[in-house]
Amino acid sequence: MFDNLSEKLDKAFHVLKGHGKITEVNVADTLKEVRRALLDADVNFKIAKDFTTKVKEKAIGQNVLTTLQPGQLMVKLVKDELTELMGGDAAGINLSGNPTVILMSGLQGSGKTTFSGKLANYLKTKKNKKPLLVACDIYRPAAINQLHVVGGQIGVEVYSEEGNRNPVEIAQNAVKHAKANGYNVVIVDTAGRLAVDEEMMNEIANVHKALQPQETLFVVDSMTGQDAVNTAKAFNDRLNFDGVILTKLDGDTRGGAAISIKSVVNKPIKFIGTGEKMEAIDVFYPNRMADRILGMGDVVSLVERAQEQYDEEEARKLQKKIAKNEFGFDDFLNQIQQVKKMGNMKDLIGMIPGAGKALKDVEIEDDAFKHIEAIIHSMTPGERSKPAIIDAKRKNRIAKGSGTSIQQVNQLLKQFDQMSKMMKMMQGGAGKNLMRMMGG
Ligand code: GDP
Repeated sequence: MFDNLSEKLDKAFHVLKGHGKITEVNVADTLKEVRRALLDADVNFKIAKDFTTKVKEKAIGQNVLTTLQPGQLMVKLVKDELTELMGGDAAGINLSGNPTVILMSGLQGSGKTTFSGKLANYLKTKKNKKPLLVACDIYRPAAINQLHVVGGQIGVEVYSEEGNRNPVEIAQNAVKHAKANGYNVVIVDTAGRLAVDEEMMNEIANVHKALQPQETLFVVDSMTGQDAVNTAKAFNDRLNFDGVILTKLDGDTRGGAAISIKSVVNKPIKFIGTGEKMEAIDVFYPNRMADRILGMGDVVSLVERAQEQYDEEEARKLQKKIAKNEFGFDDFLNQIQQVKKMGNMKDLIGMIPGAGKALKDVEIEDDAFKHIEAIIHSMTPGERSKPAIIDAKRKNRIAKGSGTSIQQVNQLLKQFDQMSKMMKMMQGGAGKNLMRMMGG
């Protein structure tokens, strides 16, 4: 899904790689690439422009955050903006009617009939509803047959009236039938055309007026890009629909429709279709879609957690200590506490793109720092600030006190020594380095 866009956005962020700070220049370069990626994905020009302007303003304003890697910060800003653009929070579906009437609209071939079946199946299996499907396409007998086939697959009754040329009447009769037979959701599949035309619009507008549905959903093929947005606009002008269904997101879609549609019609995307099977339906979550578009695993949450824990003042103090060669085990312990506050090891590793997959067979302890902490706690304050005084006798005592072995104590001392040297060399602040080691 959106492979091309993901790849291009990823390239855009590379512009910032190697820069220590976010500056107006490298932000502008990156955003130029982001804008190009969006346009290539068939996102509306004005939307792409507004998008990058907003991200730019936020990026320049984030002085405090210059300590984090700028590339990642930009990813986060772009992700937040993408999420916002696609609707912020997930929109639910209104099932308050008795029965609830859901009217499906959209062009022929958009996936309306397929989605009607998917939605019926979803409501039946996930929401414990008793849905009725209604075939209202009076022009194409094949469409009515198709709905019957779909209904048969999922075990949902399909209401149709052979020979009746009045869609309003069929729909009204179907609602009566539903009331009389205990159906609590009525999903009305309507006739589509290959392009927007007046006759079709009038017809569906009449059905809409007569039924007063709780939900009017507009189904659109995500492969159609900018066209999808224009069609959505035409339907919304007539029907003032409640939500959008994006189908065929499993295909080689560029992503433009998903990104643009909400801001053009100001209606949320409620569900997505991701295949031809009846189970290929997902509730649309803007933030998860943004993650997918950015191909970033959940690194965004990881960066957020790092931001939450990062204390500028503390980092500066630490930097001074390192410069004066005063970084001791107490500081180390402190750093471990900071990292631990971000979440457990398994959780954190799972957020690093690729790492979760690469390490899926490796046993990771929930509390990976347990032994290290125990060893440090068994040291005297003097030993913590001047590890050099820890001789064989002291090592023995520490190992006993912490319930570890002399080898483990030795290993930690050696690691600490190497780390101190490395930090002194880099002079970059322990927090930053630790975050980096954590995959930042
Ligand atoms: P309608 O004319 O709007 O009722 O569209 P249909 O439901 O008949 O769908 C048109 C074609 O798109 C059919 O071949 C469907 O199998 C296919 N289709 C519908 N939804 C999806 C989807 O989410 N993914 C894929 N790959 N194909 C879909």
